Amino acid sequence: MEDEYERRNKNYEFTMKVLFVSWELDPFFKFGGLGDVARSLPGALRNLGVDIRIAIPFYDKVKLGHLKPEKKAVFIMEYGGKKERVEAYEVTHPLTKVQVYLLKNAKHLSEDKRGLTFSFFDKAVVELCRKNYLDFTPDIIHCNDHHTGLIPLLVKESKLPIKSILTIHNLAHQGIIPIDIVMNLGLPRSKFLSLAWDREADSINFMMEAIMHADIVNTVSPTYAREIKTREFGAGMDEILRGKEGRLFGILNGIDREEEILEHYKKAAYPYLKPAKITGKHKIYAWEEGKRLNKLALQKKAGLPVTDKAPLMSFVGRLAEGQKGLDILYKMLKNIDGTKYQMAVLGTGDKKWEDKFRWLCRFYPKNMYCDLNFDPAMAVEIYAASDFILIPSKFEPCGLIQMIGMLCGTLPVAHKTGGLADSIIDGKNGFLFESYSEASLKNAVDKALEVWHHKRKVYKKMVEAAMATDLSWQKSAQEYKSLYDKLAEGVFS
Ligand code: ADP
Repeated sequence: MEDEYERRNKNYEFTMKVLFVSWELDPFFKFGGLGDVARSLPGALRNLGVDIRIAIPFYDKVKLGHLKPEKKAVFIMEYGGKKERVEAYEVTHPLTKVQVYLLKNAKHLSEDKRGLTFSFFDKAVVELCRKNYLDFTPDIIHCNDHHTGLIPLLVKESKLPIKSILTIHNLAHQGIIPIDIVMNLGLPRSKFLSLAWDREADSINFMMEAIMHADIVNTVSPTYAREIKTREFGAGMDEILRGKEGRLFGILNGIDREEEILEHYKKAAYPYLKPAKITGKHKIYAWEEGKRLNKLALQKKAGLPVTDKAPLMSFVGRLAEGQKGLDILYKMLKNIDGTKYQMAVLGTGDKKWEDKFRWLCRFYPKNMYCDLNFDPAMAVEIYAASDFILIPSKFEPCGLIQMIGMLCGTLPVAHKTGGLADSIIDGKNGFLFESYSEASLKNAVDKALEVWHHKRKVYKKMVEAAMATDLSWQKSAQEYKSLYDKLAEGVFS
């Protein structure tokens, strides 16, 4: 019997071949948002007729569950003056049915040693294409973040007729790797433009190499694409990015609506949807009642006063100094007006900030609750129970939290930056504040509270608008597809 994969393949007329390269891929190996993008975007592009496949390192920590990888190729590659054996395995992604190649090498790609493994991985990917070991020569290699940063240079050096695109998911992480590791590639120093840029550098900046050598570059929201050309947001690369004018784009990430619905408001203690319905034995509540019951349950668990008269605000995210707006959030919460709202914080990261939030919760036990763990089940409860989610990020390339919040009918209150500015419409499906300061954050929070307490009709309309906001991957995939088309047609040559 033909399987799902064969059936889908038959129904497509593929027009273009793309190799999507990432160091993480959900559910095999995941650290953050990039793993989700690598899972979803190729699947959406495949639905548009792109013959897209994914390549990732086959670290020992990669978890394939019940899938049996099939060995597709074995080849020898020069690295560090030695002949290294590389094995390429293939599995079909369980959700999207996209083919995934996993590259294995006992010395360089077994342990997840991050930066120390990427120059080897990048070369192995290019070798795979150069020698056509998989009988798949892509028209385009789609690189993601600094982990894949040397691929555009290696493609050029190999004189392959392959175009490259780099997607920057977060410019703050650039991959600064000691020169001696990179010299294993056997390329002369003069090939590395990041060394030409800074002659005193004793390391190679993978992100910079990728930006300089890739045919085109994009980031994960149009606003972030504009912001990174400024000194304030450019993380030292604004000048180089300005030089990429006409070849620098921004495409907003999406979310898997169905996946997120299953993961989030259907897994909540009191599942809810916009209209209530009964499915089998399970009751699905109307959103207002569902959120109210989830809030009462969370308040009880958190030791907060159990009442539906107090709106619940929350913060979910990495406690990362410099990005997530912790300084202005902390200043505001230090003077929390307990008569107006309750606050729940779920986050891990910087120990200094964990201590600070722990202290705040002890100081305000009747108003604030902190959970300083990485706990997806708790995240589900918090999104479901909260009326508002605070996202004061100083910068946010795209951001998932506002999207999940909106889907769950939890109105975001966010700084107008990056993907937050591109996905939230102030006063329609959330609240935005312009300048990065405690005063602006507080002002936006006050506006949100005013709507919740005194303008219930407006509040309900906003929640329903948030739940209906189209944040699907389909839209983003269309934009990627037209960028691929232009790239393949030679528009940027
Ligand atoms: P970033 O990728 O910068 O961390 P995003 O907004 O893109 O931020 O995505 C963060 C994701 O991680 C969201 O799905 C959020 O719910 C989840 N998350 C963040 N911190 C936690 C935590 N402590 N427990 C559970 N989930 C978390």
